[in-house]
Amino acid sequence: MVETYDVVIAGGAIMGSSVAYFLKKELGFAGSVLVVEKDPTYARSATMLSAASIRQQFTTPENIRLSQFGIEVIRSLKDRFGADADIGFHEKGYLTLASAAGEPILRANHAIQLAEGSDIELIDPAEIARRWPYMSTEGVALAAYGRSGEGWFDAWMWLDMIRKAAKSAGAAYAHAAVVGVTTAADRVTSVTLSDGREIACGTFVDAAGPAAGDVAKLAGIELPVEPRKRFVYVVHCREEVAGLPMLIDGTAVASGVYIRPEGQYFICGVSPDEATDGRADDDDFDVDYSLFDDLIWPALATRIPAFEALKLVRAWAGHYDFHTFDHNAVIGRHPTLSNFVFCNGFSGHGIQQGPGAGRGVAELIVHGEYRSIDLSVFGYDRLLAGRPVVEANII
Ligand SMILES: Cc1cc2nc3c(=O)[nH]c(=O)nc-3n(C[C@H](O)[C@H](O)[C@H](O)COP(=O)(O)OP(=O)(O)OC[C@H]3O[C@@H](n4cnc5c(N)ncnc54)[C@H](O)[C@@H]3O)c2cc1C
Repeated sequence: MVETYDVVIAGGAIMGSSVAYFLKKELGFAGSVLVVEKDPTYARSATMLSAASIRQQFTTPENIRLSQFGIEVIRSLKDRFGADADIGFHEKGYLTLASAAGEPILRANHAIQLAEGSDIELIDPAEIARRWPYMSTEGVALAAYGRSGEGWFDAWMWLDMIRKAAKSAGAAYAHAAVVGVTTAADRVTSVTLSDGREIACGTFVDAAGPAAGDVAKLAGIELPVEPRKRFVYVVHCREEVAGLPMLIDGTAVASGVYIRPEGQYFICGVSPDEATDGRADDDDFDVDYSLFDDLIWPALATRIPAFEALKLVRAWAGHYDFHTFDHNAVIGRHPTLSNFVFCNGFSGHGIQQGPGAGRGVAELIVHGEYRSIDLSVFGYDRLLAGRPVVEANII
């Protein structure tokens, strides 16, 4: 017998659960919603393996607005999710360092952030040395710092809270993989699950993270989203480095290395060399320790000499939901297969944008249009038109 749901969502991590939550809870969608998740432990999801940080320091207005809504949700957790809601949020700024060559770009980016109402200030090397005296300002011409609206949180608490709220508002979750998508004319008619069930649907949402391109292919759609490996290193420092923000070192001294506190430890990483970056095998979660020894540690020790005394505690690899076309999200309906909806390709900034993207997709389904943030800039049609979204701050 064919079961029927009004909305079927492939993937139940931050994107799938946010879509389900906004549909059933905040927008009061009366129809039925099924979230199909192949691994309910989420152990290998991008959501669980992320650095779980949120920033305003983007350069695309829509990216800033999505993250501002993320902050709005974090600030209203108890109203939205109940008195016990907590995600361990630390509201601390990103400190983005720029060299003389990068200074004009940092200033231009800052102007966009200010125009969007973000609380970001520019500070010079003397001020950096005053606030963080353990930090060398070698090679730094200017920095941007988030006075509020930025920070980090616990990825599992974030996902678990939204997923539970979606369930209690009436969304059903199935433990299975979507293995087939049947289409007729301009519509998805049903999906086939790995347990053999066939589910007819009114709308199908692709929220499969790094596997989103594979799921789209089941419907005959080319979506250039693929898994790309990124490493997170957990380190301990026996010398005190107090009050460190999320440091993004964009100077030649450290070529994109980031570090932030994580409890008694720090976590750090770096964007890979584009020339060697490529699609990861689905089961490849091996860590490259040489990246830490050869690049990250020396860079950190140059910027913060106390980090000479770092000790690597552990490390993990996660897969970015990497959009090869322009490293930004694809959100919205497919132009011809009109009930196929994308919520994909966030490329390293998706955990903070889950609520904003989930609300946008839910609005499209319920109202047929965006009612809060206009996300049409992220539509699939830009791929067909060869019109990339240019976001200068991709980490
Ligand atoms: C190392 C690392 C650091 C990051 N740091 C940050 C950060 O600091 N800030 C930030 O905002 N973002 C960060 N990100 C990015 C962010 O984690 C992702 O953009 C976001 O979590 C994507 O959410 P998602 O739900 O789309 O994908 P996922 O979390 O990967 O979830 C997809 C789900 O779909 C399921 N699935 C896949 N295929 C199928 C199928 N066929 N059928 C059913 N289910 C399926 C998977 O099991 C999975 O649970 C980071 C990512 C990584 C890897």
